Amino acid sequence: MSVYDEVLAANEQYAASFGDKGELALPPARHFAILTCMDARLDPAKYAGLSEGDAHVIRNAGGRASDDAIRSLVISYKLLGTREWFVVHHTNCGMEFFTDEVMRGLLASSLETAELGPDGFRDVGQGPGSAEAAYIDWLTIADNARSVVDDVTRIRNHPLVPARIAIYGFIYDVATGRLIEIEEATKAGLAEAA
Ligand SMILES: [Zn+2]
Repeated sequence: MSVYDEVLAANEQYAASFGDKGELALPPARHFAILTCMDARLDPAKYAGLSEGDAHVIRNAGGRASDDAIRSLVISYKLLGTREWFVVHHTNCGMEFFTDEVMRGLLASSLETAELGPDGFRDVGQGPGSAEAAYIDWLTIADNARSVVDDVTRIRNHPLVPARIAIYGFIYDVATGRLIEIEEATKAGLAEAA
């Protein structure tokens, strides 16, 4: 079965036992949001105990506090009432294995999928590539505890983010499934007492 067929079959089953989830309210019932990496090993619904309707989950490569992630977080509180945000990066993140310079070089030479070897990513496919990659900040990660602190700090200091929102910083350990709090990040994200 193709992935396309698998997805449609899985959805058929899901919809068959959808129950009363059609009645769920639009704002997240538990008033919180998670910003995390798109890594396929991370399932925020499972690692944080979410059901449909509970929370916002914003995902991108690295779980970085990009302008677009902040756009979603601002909508999350301003229009939909979230009050606590979790920034969750993780061990063994792919974003640690390249730099802007490497990504730009790879894409300049080929649009095929690169291979990850012991010395990092290298191109095995055909060209041509594109120089467009030079215009993108890939938001790579050199140290994943540092990146959590940086992202919580950026969100905390953003002019559209009110001081009453608590922001917590974590690393998810892909080897154990555990969330490890980065105290420096959570401290940076402390909410002002209401
Ligand atoms: Zn990742």
